[in-house]
Amino acid sequence: MAKLGPTPDAISTLLANPSPKESSPIPEIVVQVVDLNLKGINRYMFTASDGKMRLKTMLNTELSPDVISGKIQNLGLIRLLDYTVNDIPNKPEKYMIVTKCEMVSPALEMEIKSEVSKDEVKGEQVGIILKPKQEMVTKSAAQIMHEQNANMAPAARMAMTRRVHPIVSLNPYQGNWTIKVRVTNKGTMRTYSNARGQGCVFNVELTDEDGTEIRATMFNEAAKKFYEKFQLGKVYYVSKGALKVANKKFSTVQNDYEMTLNENSEVDEVSNEEAFVPETKFDFIPIDMLGPHVNSKVLVDVIGVVTNVSPTMSIRRKSDNENIPKRDITIADESKKVVVVSLWNDLATGVGQELLDIADQSPVVAIKSLKVGDYQGVSLSTLSRSSIFVNPDLPEAKRLKSWYDSEGKEVSMASVGSGMSPSANSGAWSMYSDRISLSYLKDNPSLGEDKPVFFSVKAYISSIKPDQTLWYRACKMCNKKVTESLDGGFWCDGCQKNAEECSLRYILVARAMDATSEVYLSVFNNEAERIIGCSADELDKLRSEEHSLYEVKLKQATWVPHVFRVSVSQNEYNNEKRQRITARAAAPLDFAAESKFLLEEISKMKAS
Ligand SMILES: [Zn+2]
Repeated sequence: MAKLGPTPDAISTLLANPSPKESSPIPEIVVQVVDLNLKGINRYMFTASDGKMRLKTMLNTELSPDVISGKIQNLGLIRLLDYTVNDIPNKPEKYMIVTKCEMVSPALEMEIKSEVSKDEVKGEQVGIILKPKQEMVTKSAAQIMHEQNANMAPAARMAMTRRVHPIVSLNPYQGNWTIKVRVTNKGTMRTYSNARGQGCVFNVELTDEDGTEIRATMFNEAAKKFYEKFQLGKVYYVSKGALKVANKKFSTVQNDYEMTLNENSEVDEVSNEEAFVPETKFDFIPIDMLGPHVNSKVLVDVIGVVTNVSPTMSIRRKSDNENIPKRDITIADESKKVVVVSLWNDLATGVGQELLDIADQSPVVAIKSLKVGDYQGVSLSTLSRSSIFVNPDLPEAKRLKSWYDSEGKEVSMASVGSGMSPSANSGAWSMYSDRISLSYLKDNPSLGEDKPVFFSVKAYISSIKPDQTLWYRACKMCNKKVTESLDGGFWCDGCQKNAEECSLRYILVARAMDATSEVYLSVFNNEAERIIGCSADELDKLRSEEHSLYEVKLKQATWVPHVFRVSVSQNEYNNEKRQRITARAAAPLDFAAESKFLLEEISKMKAS
């Protein structure tokens, strides 16, 4: 068998013949396809490798079907028949566009690397990025393929010899993988019906030894086949699944991809001696930075010193009237903020009781996978897959504990949610974190594309147009919009009731300005009342009785310095995406607090 691999020095040959039409006959060039990925809607890119050098490559869109049909595979070999090597303007790198090629081999087990002495790399580095990947033993492709075949052994032996892929390495273009994972969450079987009839579906969340998670979904026959097999907490080898880009709307797992398993997918339980305990990976969010995560689908991890533990409470669940144990703990961290974490079910009665017993020792807890809610502005809540580690052996825990013992316990700490919740009367914490200038919003038009992002700004209202619709008619009970009934009164869809009276609630657009830029700011009732200084009903009365005073009232609201907490999201308007900036909280500038904030900012500049 001839040695299967890329042409030696293929990349050098390509660079020397940037346009092969001019240099006939075309030299034989076989390269390995590495990091194949979809760019845009229908264009594939990859890195061409000869084992020694690499070159960024784009496939002509006419070749996209070859990728979809599997003729061009990631880690496969292709022979280049027509291509051009181009310069990237103002950059030393080059890139290649391939217009014609043929498959030499499907995906090899791994990227081929010939041994390169360091000197050689240096000498030929111009324009090429050599991947600083882990060291790999140099093998010929034939050798690798032979080894793959040797793996076709009985299932038991296969399990022993399987090459396990880390979840982080999986992508939609790589077909042949096996992962070794623990079931860290198992959903219930759900039924659905659509145009093609009835079906059923369930999903599991899988975590590998590195702590990387992925969600796997099974429909119909596959769902029936694997529902009993996947047991929460057990470890499995999983192969022959398909990957696609994750729909983050429905996924709580931190992975860009999600997996679908069909009937032909393989799921084998791993025997006990081979099982593993997944490493818990934390991505701690400081307490004062939780605001932007409120009501996000993605779960967060926190670490903090426990400053308070409540007794167990019993909460009646609405859906089935069952009583659920709940316990609230309060945690603090070096951001000098506290937040309440609600522990539910076993976490309330188990680890929650343990925490109550040692509460006087100010234990540190690291909590994985919490939901961030808006109760009291910002609150945290456990879910079934949340896990709590008391006094974990982590450097962060040690640092936090020594901070708390030396100074933290003396500091009076505000709740992170104050200033975020409508009932709070001043914008404390949130107004002085992640402060930006308005030009930042203008310069980053795609902010908030995936989910709303939050910032604080110090700005002036520069104008509120008096001729716009400033309010809507609201139900006095639920604040929802009401419609005038034919027989008098106002109908509320929310309450399903007719009421004699309604009230007006602000909903307006104002211009806001700082030293750098000016933007449109959407303002709702509470913030508008604070800015204008009277209720919508009062302003409406003024407008009908003394129109000139009404305009004066709106003028008076301008040029007063305010601090705003704003959310930035994207709205579709006439098929065009537009940035929408909404005031979530507004407070007149507190000069003392602002000065303190500025002094802190200045001292940060000195330090760095
Ligand atoms: Zn109502």
